Amino acid sequence: MIKKRIYLSAPHMSGNEINYINEAFETNWIAPLGPNVDAFEKEITNYVGVSEAVAVSSGTAAIHLALSLLDVKKGDNVFCSTLTFIASANPIIYQGAEPVFIDSERDTWNMSPQALERALKNAAKKGKLPKAVIVVNLYGQSAKMDEITSLCNQYNVPIIEDAAESLGSTYKGKASGTFGKFGVYSFNGNKIITTSGGGMLISDDTEVLNKARFLATQAKNPAPHYEHSETGFNYRLSNVLAGIGRGQLEVLEERVQTRRLIFEKYYQELSHIPGFQFMPELENTRSNRWLTALTVDETITGISVTSLLENFAAENIEARPVWKPLHLQPVFKGTQYYPHCENNSISEQLFTSGICLPSGSNMTEVEQLRIISCFKESLKLMV
Ligand SMILES: *Cc1c(COP(=O)(O)O)cnc(C)c1O
Repeated sequence: MIKKRIYLSAPHMSGNEINYINEAFETNWIAPLGPNVDAFEKEITNYVGVSEAVAVSSGTAAIHLALSLLDVKKGDNVFCSTLTFIASANPIIYQGAEPVFIDSERDTWNMSPQALERALKNAAKKGKLPKAVIVVNLYGQSAKMDEITSLCNQYNVPIIEDAAESLGSTYKGKASGTFGKFGVYSFNGNKIITTSGGGMLISDDTEVLNKARFLATQAKNPAPHYEHSETGFNYRLSNVLAGIGRGQLEVLEERVQTRRLIFEKYYQELSHIPGFQFMPELENTRSNRWLTALTVDETITGISVTSLLENFAAENIEARPVWKPLHLQPVFKGTQYYPHCENNSISEQLFTSGICLPSGSNMTEVEQLRIISCFKESLKLMV
């Protein structure tokens, strides 16, 4: 008999979403604007502590809007973390600009300030500073924002914080996503909270975010007819989906607690085994632990990530490798890349040795035990 599938990160409704959706139906607000959209934006600004938020159709759309607002265009460079989902970088291509990929460091698995510094120095020397730096907070762990912010300020380059995976995380007590000129959240189906699909662009610059709203609704100039002086997008979030978001936001804090407990359980059961190293949590940060990730040193454990993944697949458990670095993706062949230090590419090591374990907040204790025993069985450590 095939065992029930355990997903990496499945949607987890609170139950209250349906009330907001019903309200949208009852008032016939079935549109990419309406009271749920306005309220969801307000609730996000209150939760993370920023001035303004614009609800959009995806995290990718939010990054694209941020780049448009920073006037990124053909011939420009944009720096971006290499160890991430491709959605972090695709909008650079939409704008006709070129990405330059920056490696990770070991403490957070995120953008290496050391590599960033070399890249900025080099860019300044060539007289071609990037138009923006896209910093990703992987699996919920915040990057070293103090170091990165100070470098970017030194060169006067704006930061877009891709916090698609880190809503609910904090860095030195401040919400993840609030450190750059722009912050981006995603509510895709696998994220810590979801609207099935959706995203949010945040900033303390109210004026610029009003412009984002304008661009996201086809850039309609005020006129009785349809008047356009710029190219816009159709990027707003549906009022129905914003209703899901409102119900989800009510339980975000609970979801973070649950994912952290899931991490703790894995850690208790597996961290003592030599050769396995869990993704660290930087001091003075709180990760939402969106996904529990760890590295496998095959020379010590005797088992490869590939075999582990095969064993999980045979048990109908969805585990995944760590993101493949973007500078290694065929679509970005030939793109500039700055490793952590010359001849030491941390992201490549994390990719070949890393694995993400199922971490959904609605996973049962029994299911997690199934994963842990599959893991131990793979190592022949079962007693
Ligand atoms: C999910 C994700 C995105 C894209 O969000 P969508 O809402 O799916 O467009 C961007 N960056 C990272 C790091 C992500 O994990």
